[in-house]
Amino acid sequence: MKTIKDLDIDGKRIFIRCDFNVPRDADGNITDDRRIREALPTIRYCIDRDCKIILGSHFDRPEAGKYEEKYSLNPVVKRLVRLLKIADNIQLAKDVVGEDAKSKAAALQGGEVLVLENLRYEEGETKNDESFAKELASMSDIYINDAFGACHRAHASIDAMAKEFDNEHKAAGFLLAKEVNFFEKTLQNPIRPFVAVVGGSKVSGKLEALKQLVDKVDKIIIGGGMAFTFFKAQGYEIGNSLVEDNLLDEAKAVMDKAKAQGVKFYLPVDVVCSMEFSENGIAKYLPAQEIPKDWMGLDIGPASSRLFREVLNDAQTIIWNGPMGVYEMDKYSKGSLKMSHDIADTHATTIVGGGDTADVAQKAGDVEEMTFVSTGGGASLNLIEGKKLPGIEALKV
Ligand code: AMP
Repeated sequence: MKTIKDLDIDGKRIFIRCDFNVPRDADGNITDDRRIREALPTIRYCIDRDCKIILGSHFDRPEAGKYEEKYSLNPVVKRLVRLLKIADNIQLAKDVVGEDAKSKAAALQGGEVLVLENLRYEEGETKNDESFAKELASMSDIYINDAFGACHRAHASIDAMAKEFDNEHKAAGFLLAKEVNFFEKTLQNPIRPFVAVVGGSKVSGKLEALKQLVDKVDKIIIGGGMAFTFFKAQGYEIGNSLVEDNLLDEAKAVMDKAKAQGVKFYLPVDVVCSMEFSENGIAKYLPAQEIPKDWMGLDIGPASSRLFREVLNDAQTIIWNGPMGVYEMDKYSKGSLKMSHDIADTHATTIVGGGDTADVAQKAGDVEEMTFVSTGGGASLNLIEGKKLPGIEALKV
């Protein structure tokens, strides 16, 4: 993959598509700035080469065409000022491709940074609109995509805009290149035993990934809500637990394929159950085959954690995507936090998918112990599924 290092960028006007879509709490405080920190190497590389830098990102899902303060990139700019320590040389435009953005972009001096407002304030962004993409592209000589977390979406700043530049004037930033290389290298050439840990709510969202993984890994550990579809496919009572009845055959097919290929397939042996989907109800720790009719499984139990730890013991490569339970509720977060600690404790190369899984690793305080924590949930899942990402394809044409 062509990276920013392969381009002649000195002193040029450069647009970097970043992924500053960071989580925030109810008061608007950034709760995890990893996506901003991971964007710094590319930004610093451009500052050091006296580029006139324009940064673009979406943030959350504002209603298109409406500029609402709560979706502004202002808090991101404040964090960038602190991290880059360049308070005088960074500013936020009032709009995306309006008068303010264009005049500020035109006035940029070498080493200065302009952050455009939330790209999704403009209707054309999610519609992959060509004329909006052309307007964005008109502000710079070079296009860099460093927004791994947004690469699975064919939006204007990811797809149509990249196509406005020829091969000499577009490339991947350091973060995007690092993410793609890591996933590709691991999936193509893993050091074995290779273990996949897959959790999260539904089988449907990860069915393709599971099918791909069965062909590549030595062991699969299943946790989270999706485990119950596998239990039901084997004829067990799962009470009111999350289930996808239309996928029972598919779930069975995945287990049969694993068995036929000698891939070890592990499901939880006990679950933390409740009668209600909230922290208020009574929680019971039960063997997985003894879930009462009106109860639902919301986390894996301690025996499953011990079993999974044993399974991970000899792993040399571990890829983890999806929490083991409803980790957002403290009462049902132990299985996920324990899984994070157990993965971090191994001597394996450990790869954590983005989104919820990265959130668990962060809550567990294990991020530094992992080999690689992706900044993109959906994008990393697409790579595991072997799908082509629009953002990467657009850099090639
Ligand atoms: P996903 O987006 O598919 O990775 O799913 C992540 C979500 O799965 C999280 O919000 C968890 O709360 C949810 N989840 C995990 N385990 C369960 C469960 N046993 N029942 C319901 N939801 C779950």
